[in-house]
Amino acid sequence: MAGTAHNNNSETDREQHSRSVSPYKAGLHARCPNCGEGPLFVNGLAVRDACDVCGFDLSSADPGDGAQVFVILIMGALSALLGFIVMGALRWPLWAVAVTLFTFIMLGSIWMLRVFKALLIALQFHHDARQGTPGEGNRDE
Ligand SMILES: [Zn+2]
Repeated sequence: MAGTAHNNNSETDREQHSRSVSPYKAGLHARCPNCGEGPLFVNGLAVRDACDVCGFDLSSADPGDGAQVFVILIMGALSALLGFIVMGALRWPLWAVAVTLFTFIMLGSIWMLRVFKALLIALQFHHDARQGTPGEGNRDE
């Protein structure tokens, strides 16, 4: 009885610690989903193998193409809106429109990719999402 309780304690301690960091806060600041302090990315958009601060294993982080979909849809709408404003309403010269839109799209896409990728990874670890295995559904019964 006591041994069972001890084993359960280490499991719940780990879960409570990893769930104490808000996945939205970790995502917005592109931080480690476990401690919320270590940087998540190396060289801009590549995910680290392990957190520099807490050593949390990030190699199983797999946001797939999820972040790109959000960025394409949101940046596409915002860029079109900005294009209409600077070209139609403000009547900027074409070179200024091109420079403005190019800068906006490049910087906005990279920033937004970091945020959404970090958010999806943080949510993945927060909800303990991973590949299912046969028979795992009976675990709690
Ligand atoms: Zn960490």
